[in-house]
Amino acid sequence: MEQMDGLDVVGCERCDALCNSRSRIVNGVGPEDADLLFVGEAPGANEDEQGEPFVGRSGDVLDEALREAGLDRGDVRITNCVRCRPPDNRDPRKGELANCRAYLETEIDRVDPEVVVTLGKVPAEHLLERDVAVTGEAGDVFDVAIAGQPRRVLVSVHPAATLYDPSQKETFEAALSTAAEFTDAQSGQSRLGEF
Ligand code: URA
Repeated sequence: MEQMDGLDVVGCERCDALCNSRSRIVNGVGPEDADLLFVGEAPGANEDEQGEPFVGRSGDVLDEALREAGLDRGDVRITNCVRCRPPDNRDPRKGELANCRAYLETEIDRVDPEVVVTLGKVPAEHLLERDVAVTGEAGDVFDVAIAGQPRRVLVSVHPAATLYDPSQKETFEAALSTAAEFTDAQSGQSRLGEF
């Protein structure tokens, strides 16, 4: 029987297909009181191997854009809608998203971030509960209820989108710079820059 140990899911067996395809459950990383909570889709091969979200090429893009925005990976929390790698890197299915939803809601609840930043279409549609045109809405902030609590959700393109289409780099960096405006880490840094 699965359970949560703090913010970590342990021993979950809700999704047959994902239990077969995963090497491990990939839980969120980063401060449990972070101002920014980034939510991706699901772990890929690198994440499945290393047990940490966004450690492959997408992770490099994310880390670089965070630095551009005056932030460090260690300042933010990073998690996924679904914590187990889908076979052949397919999108998570509706039932899998639903099975993992309570874990994500618990994480959002306990971290209580200033903003939840969705990386790509799947997490944007999962948390806003509507169709989202991610490129058009990137950088926009929406007030929504998640698990009955008022939350701010900032839409962003997925970091991998910048690898397929370099014109998305600017869109991605602009979204992250909007996200950084909600953090103490960045405002501290910009204040320091005045001296
Ligand atoms: N893409 C995601 O959506 N999540 C990861 O953890 C890695 C790549």
